[in-house]
Amino acid sequence: MTKRAYNFNAGPAALPLEVLQQAQEQLVDYEGAGMSIMEMSHRGEIYEKVHNEAISLLRELYEIPANYKVLLLQGGASTQFAMIPMNLLKSGQVGSYVMTGSWADKAIKEAKLIGETAVAATSEADKFNRIPNISDIQIPANSAYLHVTSNETIEGTQYKQFPVTNEVPLIADMSSDIMSKPIDVSKFGMIYAGAQKNLGPSGVTIVIAREDLVSESPKSIPTMLRYDTHVKNNSLYNTPPSFSVYLANLMLKWVQAKGGAAAIEQYNRDKTKLIYDTIDQSGGFYRGFADTDSRSVMNITFRIQTEELEKQFVKESEQHGFVGLKGHRSVGGLRASTYNAVPLESCKALAEFMSDFQKRNG
Ligand SMILES: *Cc1c(COP(=O)(O)O)cnc(C)c1O
Repeated sequence: MTKRAYNFNAGPAALPLEVLQQAQEQLVDYEGAGMSIMEMSHRGEIYEKVHNEAISLLRELYEIPANYKVLLLQGGASTQFAMIPMNLLKSGQVGSYVMTGSWADKAIKEAKLIGETAVAATSEADKFNRIPNISDIQIPANSAYLHVTSNETIEGTQYKQFPVTNEVPLIADMSSDIMSKPIDVSKFGMIYAGAQKNLGPSGVTIVIAREDLVSESPKSIPTMLRYDTHVKNNSLYNTPPSFSVYLANLMLKWVQAKGGAAAIEQYNRDKTKLIYDTIDQSGGFYRGFADTDSRSVMNITFRIQTEELEKQFVKESEQHGFVGLKGHRSVGGLRASTYNAVPLESCKALAEFMSDFQKRNG
């Protein structure tokens, strides 16, 4: 049998073994076509079916209302940081951002290149260890949108509820928690995410947007950076990342087979609880980075008393088959990313390893 690592990588991240095995089976000869999906025309019937199936599955699993478009784009979430202000931020308006950490910061930086921005709330004074209180978010009246980062991948914080923005469109970067739980899409103007954490491999970016926001882009924007180009062409204006879309489709089918977004949420919570409980019951040996109320169900960030011990933890964990537990350099410490495809068994093994490490070093 294939040996699989306990994969806690932050992104690209673990994919379900079943999905990889199905891709392996279909790699050389996709459903009798005599070629792989990568070798086919993206204008052909076979690819188009996969493409449209991925879009319908997203619609079904998230119960996306009919007045929303689903786009499959390229360039990662990072390109969305620029496309959003280019398409939506008009003169006389501000792009408003809730500053929650590293990714929110990257998003606002791009918007500043395009137009005026405003910080609607920030937790910078607390080193971004929490999501600002919803009631502290101030949305300027001339906001083109309010941008939030639903899960800060590096700090390990996550919104438990979203601000109500009334007529100002709420835009969420859900790159690290897309399809990890049910959401009410109708509360958002736009949701976007790179697929490589929760929903497949890198190469495809999912955009779910209210029709009126993406139907007509300003004429001055280059073709590929206009939402309306992709809306009019069902995300087939140019060659799509066909293999990534194919794998994301398999991953969506996997979510469906697991019971959908609600079942995945329970599964994710069960996984994360094992590790947070180990932290909380360690008598201070392990310390969570995020405020308890803002803890992420996707990225668990924690520290040990000394950097020496943290280094030793990483080294020993690698010897035991764990991958990806070193924290991001900007926060330090340790991080376990427990996205959709990370099996419960990996989390059990990590919780046990943590307890054992504490016994030996506490
Ligand atoms: C990983 C990540 C990104 C960057 O995604 P790319 O696809 O690499 O551009 C943006 N936002 C969040 C929250 C992320 O976790």
